Amino acid sequence: MEIVDIYLKSQTHRIVSLDKARGMLSHAYMLECSDTYVLEHFAMLVAKEIFCESEQTPCLKCNNCIKVEHSNMVDLKICPKDGKSIVVEDINEIVSDSIQRPMDGQFKVYILNNFDKATVQAQNKLLKTLEEPPMNVIFVLTCSNSGNVLPTIQSRVKSITENLLDVETLAEFLTGMKIKDSQSVASVSGGSIATALKLSGGDTKKIVELAFECLLELRSSADILKFSSKILALKKDFVFFVDTLISILRDVAVCETGKINFKDRKIDIESLKKIYSADAIRSITSVLCQIYGKLEFNCNLTGVVDRMLLDILEVKFLCLK
Ligand SMILES: [Zn+2]
Repeated sequence: MEIVDIYLKSQTHRIVSLDKARGMLSHAYMLECSDTYVLEHFAMLVAKEIFCESEQTPCLKCNNCIKVEHSNMVDLKICPKDGKSIVVEDINEIVSDSIQRPMDGQFKVYILNNFDKATVQAQNKLLKTLEEPPMNVIFVLTCSNSGNVLPTIQSRVKSITENLLDVETLAEFLTGMKIKDSQSVASVSGGSIATALKLSGGDTKKIVELAFECLLELRSSADILKFSSKILALKKDFVFFVDTLISILRDVAVCETGKINFKDRKIDIESLKKIYSADAIRSITSVLCQIYGKLEFNCNLTGVVDRMLLDILEVKFLCLK
């Protein structure tokens, strides 16, 4: 599975392709998703969709689709180029450029990435153009949090919200990208491709194994020493280990509904359900959430890990089923 397969099933494709087929493309779209990978790729696919010369858009084969793919499309501009926030100078440049007629095709498309991070001045500057949009100009704004986009802008764009992927689709996509341990990585990524790719560099499978082992087999204070050294060896991956513990406990809490992320560990999740009561899950999750704060204050890692294991053990016995 590739990103285009995900796109073809998306809201974004449904809306934009229908608008195009009806000859009623909006002068501005705003894509919202908390997955930055999806945003970045969907914005490019929307550009292909708009420029595509075939009936079935985006075909990815026609001249225009290939030009967009190879960054040779003169009528497509992407801002910002350097990953910085959009500032008023960027918009000034775009506004004066947008008055010129398209050079190659019928439309001029401007992709404005992370528009929720654009300065208020830049947003206000774009607003004037959106109020009286030049002919044949289409803006594609992307954002992770539309709450940071001026309401006046939001009322002048066609908003499309994309949800995060389900674990199966994400795992399939990661497998397609030849990511190692795609199932484990997908289980702990909360449906975000961007998060999954960040995590995929590490030894995800090992971390997931250790997290399950820790929850299943931590029985006495003697075990604390054993687990403590294994966890400390994870070093910078410790935060990911804590994330994983929280994800597993979430699965244990909801496993009766069948909606678990660690589908390949169903038996372990069911075993954990027999060990941890709902109260225990709540208490341990709250202990784990406090760890992020402790790490920010640079507490001694050995102390944090030992305390965490001791707390889990204590809750396990207090809430013994
Ligand atoms: Zn095409």
